[in-house]
Amino acid sequence: MSHLPAEPEFEQAYKELVATLENSSLFEEHPEYRTALNVVSIPERIIQFRVVWEDDKGNLQINRGYRVQFNSALGPYKGGLRFHPTVNLSILKFLGFEQIFKNALTGLNMGGAKGGADFDPKGKSDSEIRRFCEAFMRRLCQHIGAETDVPAGDIGVGGREIGYMFGAYRKERNKWEGVLTGKGLDWGGSLIRPEATGYGLVYYVEHMIAHAGKGSFKGKRVAISGSGNVAQYTALKCIELGATVVSLSDSTGCLIAEGDAAFTPAHVNEIAAIKLARKPLTQFSNATAQFKYIPGARPWVHVGKVDIALPSATQNEVSKEEAETLVKNGVQFVAEGSNMGCEQAAIDVFEAARRGKGGVWYAPGKASNAGGVAVSGLEMAQNSSRFNWTAERVDERLQQIMKNIFELSIANAERYVKAEEGELPSLVAGGNIAGFLKVVQAMHDQGDWW
Ligand code: GLU
Repeated sequence: MSHLPAEPEFEQAYKELVATLENSSLFEEHPEYRTALNVVSIPERIIQFRVVWEDDKGNLQINRGYRVQFNSALGPYKGGLRFHPTVNLSILKFLGFEQIFKNALTGLNMGGAKGGADFDPKGKSDSEIRRFCEAFMRRLCQHIGAETDVPAGDIGVGGREIGYMFGAYRKERNKWEGVLTGKGLDWGGSLIRPEATGYGLVYYVEHMIAHAGKGSFKGKRVAISGSGNVAQYTALKCIELGATVVSLSDSTGCLIAEGDAAFTPAHVNEIAAIKLARKPLTQFSNATAQFKYIPGARPWVHVGKVDIALPSATQNEVSKEEAETLVKNGVQFVAEGSNMGCEQAAIDVFEAARRGKGGVWYAPGKASNAGGVAVSGLEMAQNSSRFNWTAERVDERLQQIMKNIFELSIANAERYVKAEEGELPSLVAGGNIAGFLKVVQAMHDQGDWW
């Protein structure tokens, strides 16, 4: 089946999935799953709409809004909203496609979707953000609902934006319901949801480290990219577990810890405040003393020797050359907090190094960053029962889900992918096969393909 070449990111995500399925025995054993692949790779529905709003000067502003409702076999459509100038249908189709399999891996009842707008929050006032969110939701609200489609945050959409959108939905539809996740704690949100993607990523990597027999996070040097929600809580959990965090970044550049310096929780909290104010990392007060700021750069070739790399910024943020440098500098574990953080050529470098003596181990975002949407699923469960869980209960469930995803990935890699004696199983193949099987089997039961 061919896809439009005008959708490069979607094509990349599609090909990544298909390559791992083709390299396994899945299609040999089940040729009928090729039909399933053709069906699952076309969205059930795409909604596109115009968002018109007024800026602080009274000028009319227009943006493009979208919701890609990709698959609902396992539950209501579920996935974040991204507000970023690069948003287009290719980006949202790739994100929605990944979301289907990620959500399946959590074992919770959630379908896959993604949405957003080409709106740039940078340089906007708080009032402009509020007016945009309200205008966006006034258009989207007819197409979503607690049993239909439950959006959440992604890049450019955090607790503040979810609040404005929830308010707009409630007023427009005259309904207070669990239509969004990532809500405020006093009005239907779940404890640990803000922390969940970062914490979940670290829990997943803890299993990788233990399985490979390489100790724990304690004493390991960790390179992180990004400085948003995922990067912040990833860094905080790494620090809590005794690791040394040596980098963070944003779209303007990266901060690299010099000599014995390392990010502390106070540093991370300061950066969180800078980001909440939509300001660049150059505002970080330690930027010239303990930390080197490199404008326009990503951290990977500047961090030197690291044990663990956790791309947590955005898609295609690790190139082939950067992957090669990381491997040369001794990286042992690479796990994505972002969606499709590594270019395909970078994944190929890590996968080749997994098979070689180095034993580098790579985990794809749809497995390692599933903690965020997993706790969104727990938020939905709490909303349905109208009870709130304790932080301990949510964290315990999150840890269990990340462990299940890790074990499911290993089991499916061992079952369907040929490997040399003593080789670490491919987490990208295992995760893809596990997620794919769960979704297409549900679709088959429901008559979506036959
Ligand atoms: N945007 C997040 C993701 O990529 C969270 C989605 C959600 O909680 O629905 O998985």
